[in-house]
Amino acid sequence: MAEKINIIGGGLAGSLLSICMAKRGFEVNLFERRPDMRKNRISAGKSINLALSTRGLKALEQVGLDKEIMKEAIPMYGRTIHSRTGEINYQPYGKEGQAINSVSRGLLNIQLLELADAYENITLHFNAKCIDVNIEQGLATFEMEGGTKKTFSSDRIVGTDGAFAATRARLQSTDRFNYSQSYLPVGYKELIIPPGQGAKFMMEKNALHIWPRGAFMMIALPNPSGDYTCTLFMPFEGEKSFSKLHTESDVKQFFDEEFPDAVPLMPSLLKDFFTNPTSSLVTVRCYPWSNGGRLTLAGDAAHAVVPFFGQGMNCSFEDVMVLDECIGNYYPNWNKAFDEYQKQRKPNADAIADLAIANYTEMAEKVGDKVFLHKKQVEHKLCELYPNDFKSQYELVTFSTVPYKQAQDRGLVNDLILAYIIDHKLEEQLHNRELILPVIKNKGMM
Ligand SMILES: Cc1cc2nc3c(=O)[nH]c(=O)nc-3n(C[C@H](O)[C@H](O)[C@H](O)COP(=O)(O)OP(=O)(O)OC[C@H]3O[C@@H](n4cnc5c(N)ncnc54)[C@H](O)[C@@H]3O)c2cc1C
Repeated sequence: MAEKINIIGGGLAGSLLSICMAKRGFEVNLFERRPDMRKNRISAGKSINLALSTRGLKALEQVGLDKEIMKEAIPMYGRTIHSRTGEINYQPYGKEGQAINSVSRGLLNIQLLELADAYENITLHFNAKCIDVNIEQGLATFEMEGGTKKTFSSDRIVGTDGAFAATRARLQSTDRFNYSQSYLPVGYKELIIPPGQGAKFMMEKNALHIWPRGAFMMIALPNPSGDYTCTLFMPFEGEKSFSKLHTESDVKQFFDEEFPDAVPLMPSLLKDFFTNPTSSLVTVRCYPWSNGGRLTLAGDAAHAVVPFFGQGMNCSFEDVMVLDECIGNYYPNWNKAFDEYQKQRKPNADAIADLAIANYTEMAEKVGDKVFLHKKQVEHKLCELYPNDFKSQYELVTFSTVPYKQAQDRGLVNDLILAYIIDHKLEEQLHNRELILPVIKNKGMM
């Protein structure tokens, strides 16, 4: 008889994992706290749209969903930077044709659930909130619709129940489980730029828009319906902060001063500002992710990261791929499979968590800074001229499946190379291979 796997959390990682496990022939139960989002047009929570890039696409390709998802996606080839005075500056993300893709979180989750539902060996349970887990016995207890409690048994449990996972909470009471969570002093609020007449995009469609303002920023991602989801990231406290915006006139004055070109495009700004919640941003780290061969964690449950590299979902999908591969390699040795998985993923999850925090400073402060822009231009040129020898950290994170830790380390080396070139004023000689290749090969240490 097939082994039984209970997956707790039917968000992005959980629904993808259920499909991978069903393909391996296991009997899968997927439990989701919320109602079935295919029937109830509920918000998927968190952000409305997400940037999907190479890692996420590769995972979707494995279950045959990549093309379907890309039909509804909007490629964003670069950042459009909006200054306070309304000037616009465009920075490509990668080489020609390379793009990150704006996709709807709700639609992506629905498409994954629909595919999962088509498998005979997957049972979906909605309105099933996990309230307890007995790891040794493989039992998980749920509060079902109407408040009744039900316990389900299984051979393995995977916790994909997000940043505030109940499954992880259970691991916290086991011996030598390390855990930390830290909130950024910055929160976020979603706002909207609606479409013009005939679903017209009111700004450049194929770009991620950023209004960098130092300690705070607004970004906007396009949606297929012609609107943009804007997110204002700003400190909770301080001179320019959410705590200072109490009245409609506070908000109006703030937006008029900081984002003057966006205001005319935001007719429902005041209503949206006071209706939509201000949410917080957390980084969660823990280890071990697994308890023997009985239970493991994946996605945000194992490593919630802040959204400034657009990698949380991409990383979670990559977790699923690695977990699936380890199960394929070591089954029926679940201890080994879970252990190999966590050992491969933990350093990479830590790396992307660090990179995501660092990227807040880059997006909010540096993208408008002349020295930084110059460095980026040199970097971009090096990527173009020396594609086999020089890759930017952004390219490695976003457009490759090179482990995040390697991308992080490479970024430090790139900084040395760029510093050497700029300090020695070699910008005009980047084409000179005899001069530049040794700088790259010697990692800027000449
Ligand atoms: C503002 C913002 C913007 C983001 N932008 C991007 C981006 O552009 N690109 C990117 O790659 N990532 C982005 N992310 C990160 C991304 O949203 C997450 O990394 C991703 O959703 C993780 O997937 P998951 O399945 O692990 O968790 P989730 O998507 O959170 O899913 C967890 C699921 O578990 C369910 N659940 C929770 N508790 C229980 C319980 N006790 N019992 C049963 N079910 C439960 C929840 O209802 C949910 O459906 C962003 C995040 C935020 C906050």
